[in-house]
Amino acid sequence: MLTDKFKEECAVMAVYGHQEAANLTYLGLYAMQHRGQESSGIVSSDGTRHAAEIGMGLVSEIFDEQKITALTGHAAIGHNRYSTQGESELRNAQPLSIMYHNGPLALAHNGNLINAKALREQLEKEGSIFRSTMDSEVIIHLIAKSRKTRLLDQVVDALSQVKGAYSIAIMGANEIIAVRDPHGFRPLSIGRLGSGYAFASETCAFDLIEAKFSREVAPGEVVVVNEEGMFSHFPFPPELKRHCIFEYIYFARPDSRIFGASVHMVRKEFGRRLAQEAPVEADCVVPVPDSGIVAALGYSEQSGIPFDKGIIRNHYVGRTFIEPTQSIRHFGVKIKLNPVREVMEGRRVILVDDSIVRGTTSRKLVKMARDAGAREVHMRISSPPTIHSCFYGIDTPARSDLIASTYKVEEIRRFLNADSLAYLSIEGMLFAVKGRENDFCKACFDGDYPVTTPAMEAQLMLLDDEPVAVKRDID
Ligand code: SF4
Repeated sequence: MLTDKFKEECAVMAVYGHQEAANLTYLGLYAMQHRGQESSGIVSSDGTRHAAEIGMGLVSEIFDEQKITALTGHAAIGHNRYSTQGESELRNAQPLSIMYHNGPLALAHNGNLINAKALREQLEKEGSIFRSTMDSEVIIHLIAKSRKTRLLDQVVDALSQVKGAYSIAIMGANEIIAVRDPHGFRPLSIGRLGSGYAFASETCAFDLIEAKFSREVAPGEVVVVNEEGMFSHFPFPPELKRHCIFEYIYFARPDSRIFGASVHMVRKEFGRRLAQEAPVEADCVVPVPDSGIVAALGYSEQSGIPFDKGIIRNHYVGRTFIEPTQSIRHFGVKIKLNPVREVMEGRRVILVDDSIVRGTTSRKLVKMARDAGAREVHMRISSPPTIHSCFYGIDTPARSDLIASTYKVEEIRRFLNADSLAYLSIEGMLFAVKGRENDFCKACFDGDYPVTTPAMEAQLMLLDDEPVAVKRDID
């Protein structure tokens, strides 16, 4: 079912030094299902051999007790995927698992390599045969081609050649290597499990498996865990930090801590700032569930206007939902979201959402609120207008489909048929991460891409010249 959101990327999970490594990895992936629902996989290691279970669908659909039991060993890595590069099919599911001259090798990647195409073309010219269309497979080939002997050195060799966003777990026969790119675009944390170790994209995974959060893998850090313990390396030239601020806005779970702060607290601060920047007289603050809930709480606390759950989300609408035929399709967004008439009727409602991408869902929500009797509908967005596409591991629609790239706020308001519309400013967004303002990527708002390639620059220039493709009944 079409959702009008930037799409989450992927989740990476790893456990070393625990006899239930695969089971804990499974639970960690379960906690991070929100980061990717297309495919999931676990590869385990008993110190010499790898065992793998990878499939299409949700974590709960792929794994059962029998499959988890077959994943023997004291080490495991896992991955949930939402495809940003490569089609959604089994050959593109991760972890990637191969045998090479050093033995078994598996890799789980969250992010996007912006020079993967050029590297792949070069590798193919030199004889490499790729089995997937994923950018991540480039890293596997570069590791296998390295002339170094230790896995650590091969990984450093390979990653020195790639550009872009990567938080990665790599497993050899008896060690796990976790790496974050030098800009630290995507999160990756380290947890302790007794004498063992865990790595996870988000700390909510640690809470479920009762791992103790230790710290984040630092940008540019290569962490090795093996029988001798944990070792840290910084082999890459340092770069400016560029954490994805959209993780705070929408992607990460509110109960996670990433980039040194609680997602819940930052998201709430976005709401508070929004209330200061764009106040409006109203009777209730209603979040668009689930993404707008925390910011709406912040807006309500700051403004003193009561928070109310005026829209209810059906959590059981899955990927298997059968789209209705054209003749009854008019119920559209109501399959997933439905208003509470008693909250809306006769009232001035502030609808709070985290972002507007195409605007189609927001427009339906405004109509839904009006149909439920709302007297006024004021839309408040807890992020700045999304104007540019992401190249660092988030699936964004074509720039011409981003409503804010073509239309001004007042035009969007008219399209939505809202009484008022306001976005959080870039300054307001950065205020919520005060003291770390310069540590974030915000390219989808301001087009200031922290890392580019000549091919990407050329693509951006083409986009600048692109004719306006969005046709909307704005008037
Ligand atoms: Fe995150 Fe936007 Fe930067 Fe992509 S462009 S990494 S979504 S802040």
